[in-house]
Parts: sequence; C-alpha cells; structure tokens
Amino acid sequence: MHSLTKIVIASHNKGKISEIRELLEPFGVEVFSANALGLEDVEETGATFAENAKLKAQAAANAAGLPAISDDSGLAVDKLDGAPGIYSARWAENDNGVRDFNYGMEKLHLAMQNKPGSNSARFICALALAFPNDDNVHIYEGKVEGEIVWPPRGTKGFGYDPIFMAKGDNQTFGEIEPEEKHAKSHRADAFSKFIKFWFDEK
Ligand code: IMP
Repeated sequence: MHSLTKIVIASHNKGKISEIRELLEPFGVEVFSANALGLEDVEETGATFAENAKLKAQAAANAAGLPAISDDSGLAVDKLDGAPGIYSARWAENDNGVRDFNYGMEKLHLAMQNKPGSNSARFICALALAFPNDDNVHIYEGKVEGEIVWPPRGTKGFGYDPIFMAKGDNQTFGEIEPEEKHAKSHRADAFSKFIKFWFDEK
C-alpha cells in the first residue's frame, strides 16, 4: 500500500487547488501545485469524468515523480441525455471562444425548453489519485442530485450554480452559503470517499 505524505494537485484552476489544499493539509500532507512544478496541462480526451481525471492525475504523477490528485466534474441534465456532462466547461464558451457562464446557462435553458419531462439533473465529480509508474489509479466518484431552475438565482458559487437546486432545497447553489454547498456537493461526496480510504482510523 502506498503512503501519502506528498501530493501534487494536477490542476491549473486556482479555486480547485486551494479547496484541495485546505482539505489535505490537516492530514499532514505536503501539497504541491502542478503550476509550481511547471507541469503541462493535459488534453481531456477521455469519454467519462473518471477517464479524464485519470489522464490528468497519471500525467502529473509520472512527470513529478510524486503521487498526484485531479478532479474532473460537470453537470448532467437528464432530458439532454446527460449533456453538457464532460463538456460542461466547453459548453459555456461563446462564439469568441471565451468562457461565459451566463451564455452557458442560457444555452442550456434553450436546449431544454421544448423538451418534455422533468428538469432533473446532477453534478458529478470524479477524483483520481495516481502514483508514479503505476497503472492502478484510484477513482472516487461523487454526485449531488437536483434540478435545473430558470431564471438563474444567486451570485454565490461559480459555473452553473445559479440554475442548480439540490433535491430537498428551495434555494440554488448560487444562493446557499459556500459552507452549505461544500457540505453536500458532488466534490464533497467524492472527497469524503477519498479521505475515508486514505486517512480514517490511521
Ligand atoms: P473541469 O475543470 O474540466 O472539471 O470542468 C468543470 C466544469 O463543470 C466547470 O467549468 C463548470 O462548468 C462545471 N462545474 C463543475 N463543478 C461545478 C460546481 O460545483 N458548480 C457549478 N459548476 C460546476
């Protein structure tokens, strides 16, 4: 069994890096960012969240010679057969190739508009932990069930948060406090599985 005393975060997204750092440091893990080590971004060519997370973690682990963790996430809408899914970030790119979530949310609303059925959707997160020169990558998947609401509500959070309302809630992820989101989100669900496996009762 590998041990986890040092870890590279295979992401160039500042928000994700600080979230993962905060989560790991209490366990005495020394955290490095891919940026700080000068690691290249990896093209996400996988067909699933887990495949993309694996690609990113494995490339970083092999390049850095250290364990590496990565996260791939997105929104899946049932009446759109799971779209935008792994393309959630790209879906929000406007005609100039600029990522704009107001545009992305509007586009999602238009795509759903004349389709019958419920507006059920879920956020999904796949977390991958890879070790150098080891094909056996650990995957932890998390999700949060909910629905798409229109118009967008709230200015907290990021991405599609203003149009996603978790099951049992009457406020969107854009309206609830970040602590509340972080307790129930797809990322929290995946991380709790990872923490349980590596750090609980050790
Ligand atoms: P990734 O960086 O390739 O994993 O892209 C994730 C994309 O999914 C983000 O750019 C957002 O569009 C969307 N996404 C993932 N998690 C969340 C979330 O918690 N709230 C809102 N949007 C999210």
